Amino acid sequence: MIVGVLGAGQLGRMLALAGYPLGLRFRFLDPTPESPASHVAEQVVGDYGDPAALDRFADGLDVVTYEFENFPVEAVRRLALRVPVYPPPIALEVAQDRLQEKSTLNRLGIPTAPWEPVDSRDDLQQALTVLGVPAVLKTRRLGYDGKGQHVIRTPDEADAAWQTLGGVPLILEGYVPFRRELSVLGVRSQDGEMPCYPVVENEHRHGVLRRSVAPAPSVTEALQRESESYVSRVMDELDYVGVLAVELFDAGGRLLANEIAPRVHNSGHWTIEGATTSQFENHVRAVAGLPLGVTAARGCSGMLNLLGTQPDVAAVLRVPGVHLHLYGKSARPGRKLGHVTVLAADRPDLASRLTQLETVLG
Ligand code: AMP
Repeated sequence: MIVGVLGAGQLGRMLALAGYPLGLRFRFLDPTPESPASHVAEQVVGDYGDPAALDRFADGLDVVTYEFENFPVEAVRRLALRVPVYPPPIALEVAQDRLQEKSTLNRLGIPTAPWEPVDSRDDLQQALTVLGVPAVLKTRRLGYDGKGQHVIRTPDEADAAWQTLGGVPLILEGYVPFRRELSVLGVRSQDGEMPCYPVVENEHRHGVLRRSVAPAPSVTEALQRESESYVSRVMDELDYVGVLAVELFDAGGRLLANEIAPRVHNSGHWTIEGATTSQFENHVRAVAGLPLGVTAARGCSGMLNLLGTQPDVAAVLRVPGVHLHLYGKSARPGRKLGHVTVLAADRPDLASRLTQLETVLG
């Protein structure tokens, strides 16, 4: 079976690495030559909207999946006419537009920050009247890692926010004074089986994920169940196949959904060593029509992203219980170059290993 993957970044690379032991083969499509996945599988270099590149990519594939969500949906729909595409293109469409995403979540009874669509400066004024300050102005499309958003702390900051982001469809969200950020990952098979991973606690810096701890500390059974119910409702609604992540705000007793990612997710990298079956293997199993694997955690895991600078590999590997994953990318400020997972028997052990690791990484 040959699995085609749109996007050849690190997520694609880790999908291939998880799929090889199952006897699967992989082909990637990405406009950037020498992308991380090209080191482990064939890469067709071409634009996602280019019919000739899509033809070369699709020829002989059994199934197609994707590793990020900002593709032209039309191109993916055309591809779906000749080869099955999982997750279904509707999931891409919903995840690409914050307005569709928030409406879908709310329609399914999943609470989010209060929000208002903003298409003009007048709309922004009106939305600020409804939601008050602080509030977060976001582009509806193409926002990721905290890009395309602006916090409005006082009413007189509205002009600056509008000048930075105005001109494209926007959405204003009430600012959530969250206690912490969590995420939950589920996976749905072609038969509708839907196991979920333990809830993860995530720390961001400048909008980029820096560190995850799994299972998240102080997660009651009720919180785990509620998180699972959010991700399951979304997956059922979209007739989903593959891994889906829901990013959450724990707002002290209220669990709000922030956004969904219709793919494997950075906050699930710990599962490679820290869960019985990794998110990558389960995603591949789902899209290939295979039975899913157990999602339970093995001990406690901490995951640190390597951002911007290459680590001292030998120093990292000296930390007990550590697993290093480099993506084969060149260094650039803020760029995700790899991640490190530490596995520990209990939380105090995890805390001391993470401290050791943070010291090594500087
Ligand atoms: P997003 O691009 O929506 O994932 O947002 C990136 C980060 O900005 C989140 O991980 C939060 O830390 C923060 N953020 C986004 N939306 C809100 C909000 N409505 N209230 C408070 N913080 C937010």
